Amino acid sequence: MKYTSTLKAKIYKLFSLYPDPIEFIPADDPFRFLVTVVLSASSTDERAIKASTILFDRAHDARGIAELDESEIESMIAFVGLGRSKAHSIKALAEKECTDGIPKTLEELVKLPGIGEKTANCYLVSVLGQPGVIVDTHFARVSHRLGLVKSEDRNAIYKEVKDTYPDNIWSRLSMTVNKHGRVFCLARKPKCGICPMKELCDYGRKVSSVE
Ligand code: SF4
Repeated sequence: MKYTSTLKAKIYKLFSLYPDPIEFIPADDPFRFLVTVVLSASSTDERAIKASTILFDRAHDARGIAELDESEIESMIAFVGLGRSKAHSIKALAEKECTDGIPKTLEELVKLPGIGEKTANCYLVSVLGQPGVIVDTHFARVSHRLGLVKSEDRNAIYKEVKDTYPDNIWSRLSMTVNKHGRVFCLARKPKCGICPMKELCDYGRKVSSVE
């Protein structure tokens, strides 16, 4: 796909709708942020933040978490789902933080236990301030409906965004599209009737033409 004037108009409108910095998970403590993003997999940010609060209230920091048994971590975070594997990853991340520290490149981040491309990009964007493309469920759904990408497959969308859009807008695009998905473009019932993107949205225009 080419970064055409039509795509530029969509991006311009989107960015103008959400001019302020967007943060879903607090990023003032990098290690805690990473743990919370790991907790959020297949769950919600709200539940992940709650689980992270319980864990850090008990263990305080990476050293404290590294000293816990995995079963103890699991008992505190089980309500977010995938408790056993997340507890395993979180303990391993805590040990890594205490020894070499968390790496600073995408290539190194995805080698860490429990860290996939999405989590690594979240860390790049929110903690390191580097360009990153975060394709989560909201981004995949909304970017396709808006016609910002052609694909519906998350891996293909990730590549398409990187190939189509300049890297200086990747991070803002990721956060803005995600936000729009939470405010208007809900999974089951998108609010097309009141959505400010309606005139520029492929899906929204289709909906209006059959109304
Ligand atoms: S018009 Fe509808 S489908 Fe398009 S972005 Fe808005 S809510 Fe989503």
